[in-house]
Amino acid sequence: MKTLLLWDIDGTLIDSGGAGERGLQLALKREFAIEDTLSWLEYFGRTDGWIARAILKHDLGEASPEDIQRFLNAYLKALAEEMNNPQACVLPGVAEIVAQIGQHSDIAQGLLTGNLRRGAEIKLGHLGLWAHFPYGAFANDAVHRDELGPHALRRANAYHGVTFVPERVFVIGDTPHDIACGKAIGARTFAVATGRYSSERLRAHTPTAVFENFADTGAFFAALN
Ligand SMILES: [Mg+2]
Repeated sequence: MKTLLLWDIDGTLIDSGGAGERGLQLALKREFAIEDTLSWLEYFGRTDGWIARAILKHDLGEASPEDIQRFLNAYLKALAEEMNNPQACVLPGVAEIVAQIGQHSDIAQGLLTGNLRRGAEIKLGHLGLWAHFPYGAFANDAVHRDELGPHALRRANAYHGVTFVPERVFVIGDTPHDIACGKAIGARTFAVATGRYSSERLRAHTPTAVFENFADTGAFFAALN
């Protein structure tokens, strides 16, 4: 194993069809009887823990650890329901790329995501991708995305019994937060414009490479070299 890919989920591997946002709205309504469209919330690239805290502070005025936990539990339940929507899909080229990496003896892959581990399993399990990622870093590990990288690296090293060098680690995501969190561990960064950010906006954050999408799987693998 020489190369390690660490994937973001939403806007990078999949589009949940709005299931994440609706799951948050439903959890707020069911647990706290609060209706909020969350249109004020800039949550792209943030961790679920960060998001839960921001919403409860905004809507309740405070966010105790107990309320955050209650909210997140209700969110996971609603998320599992909401993934059953016709817009939920795997993004172009992704299914082919992650399957091909499974055949490569020198490329490994895991997750580096702001989702809770259980949320990642719900989203990727629903779309048939969960089995490709034996380890990862999740919102359970840290509130701030920049702190997730070392957890993902440690688990990858332990799983494969090797030490991946930062120059051969690629953090792949759709927001400036993904690029920053890759740079925080000295990794290379692939940015993809299949989320909320255009390739121009992503390029301004100087990732190693920018893709419109991953439909051209040959271009993806070429960029690893
Ligand atoms: Mg994302």
